[in-house]
Amino acid sequence: MDTLEPAAPDGAVVLFDGSNADAWQSTKDSGPYRWKVEEGALHIVPKTGDIVSRQPFEDHYLHLEFRGPDMPEATGQKKGNSGVYLQGRYEVQVLDSSGWNVPGKGDCGAVYDQFAPLTNACKPAMEWQTYDIFFRSPRFDDAGTRTEGPRLTVLLNGVCIQNNVELPGVTGGAMDEKVAEPGPLRLQDHGDLVSYRNIWVVPLSKHGSDTYKPH
Ligand code: MG
Repeated sequence: MDTLEPAAPDGAVVLFDGSNADAWQSTKDSGPYRWKVEEGALHIVPKTGDIVSRQPFEDHYLHLEFRGPDMPEATGQKKGNSGVYLQGRYEVQVLDSSGWNVPGKGDCGAVYDQFAPLTNACKPAMEWQTYDIFFRSPRFDDAGTRTEGPRLTVLLNGVCIQNNVELPGVTGGAMDEKVAEPGPLRLQDHGDLVSYRNIWVVPLSKHGSDTYKPH
């Protein structure tokens, strides 16, 4: 199934359409992003820091595309590492894990150090790949006690690799632990030349109507 470059659906917040990255800022000093926009993609400039969307989100559906560098000599976490942090707190790993039989909790598609992907759906380095991620924010009762952890469903290249996992908490490198608050989309600068494009978010309602009545 070809999942590349779908049109952004109605209601989507377009965070990057190839023209500019004005929807983003640097995490270093909340200043302008320091990554490079070129040929319709947003390219990491290593060591300039992560970038975050200016807009925060609660429940949402995210689509983005990424492409990793070809680093044949590199191994493990040094091989095309980046990351997609939902609400700036929960990392879905970006890594060159193509061809590995049993990806683990640090590999591409993992909820970093919490859940390994169900299967390896990675394409090789230098190919564009898609993430479609459904994020359900944590729930709290009136006293502020957490009743449900955040949930993630992740499709990598159209293959479901995380099926509604409930996270115990934030992942390593989270921007904060204010988990009851909305948070931005954050893309990680891990020092590797990963690129992104076609980034949009559809905010989702937290619940539907409680009524049932025939129309
Ligand atoms: Mg990472």
